[in-house]
Amino acid sequence: MSTQDENREAADPKGPNGDTAPCVRRLAARESDVGGIPVARALPSRKQRRIGAWCFLDHAGPAHFEPGSDGMQVGPHPHTSLQTFTWMIAGELIHRDSLGYEQRIRPGQVNLMTAGWGISHTEASPDGEEQLHAAQLWIALPHDKRHMAPRFDHYPDLPRLSRDHLDLTLLLGEFEGEQAPTLHYSPLMGLDMAWSEAATTELALRTDFEYGILPLEGSLNIDEETFQANELAYLGQGRDRLSLSTGAPGRALLIGGEPMDANITMWWNFVGHSREEVAQAQDDWEAGDARFGEIPKPNRPRMTAPPIPWKRSGHE
Ligand code: MN
Repeated sequence: MSTQDENREAADPKGPNGDTAPCVRRLAARESDVGGIPVARALPSRKQRRIGAWCFLDHAGPAHFEPGSDGMQVGPHPHTSLQTFTWMIAGELIHRDSLGYEQRIRPGQVNLMTAGWGISHTEASPDGEEQLHAAQLWIALPHDKRHMAPRFDHYPDLPRLSRDHLDLTLLLGEFEGEQAPTLHYSPLMGLDMAWSEAATTELALRTDFEYGILPLEGSLNIDEETFQANELAYLGQGRDRLSLSTGAPGRALLIGGEPMDANITMWWNFVGHSREEVAQAQDDWEAGDARFGEIPKPNRPRMTAPPIPWKRSGHE
């Protein structure tokens, strides 16, 4: 996916970051639009820029399309120094990128695009698609990987666990002895939790990770506080377990990681480790530089970036 959102608040590298102690903070996602689909954007926010290296979290849908609608259509756009991570819950999308990959993603699957030095892609509902429910997250690459060669990976099968009336899918990293195959470059985890009836459980966590949990449907309770869909519960660091209970039915996404000690700048669809890197990426995209390649059969015209505010304001 892509953002036309300027991510202005996230462009300040001195902005707030996480808590080193356990906490429960409520962060309401803000509404946005991606390719014609309403999304709830939980990260970045003014009060929390990242959770580990997870630096962007969009919850798309659940949406049902009118007959004859094009569904979601995100035209050609670039990325740098991040991984786009797409978790499909309902409906399908077709990804096409400048490396030549064309990959349909179905419910229960993950698409992972590692942008590194530069890549461009499109995401589109297939003809006749009637629905979409997905989460797309971005993972900031660490400094020494930020300019790596781009690549694309598809994960059709992920580890599944079932307990306490919860169906768990390990999306990335390790959890309670299971390991997901999903490629990543910093200490990180992601877990989908789905339930059809009220459940109570305890999850094993790592004390060196910070965590957040986002209900996607239904609600859940942590420390006697209730979180509804699209209310991110930021949990801080220092927990070795998390007790929670759920309303029924529902689904939530647990993400965690080692707090990332880097000055990450996010602007439009770019991540950079300095403002200069981001400005260079935008110049290269606008110039049609080979850095971002060409996408076969683009569904839409190339997307254009808004002007960079810190260039516009003359600070650099
Ligand atoms: Mn994208």
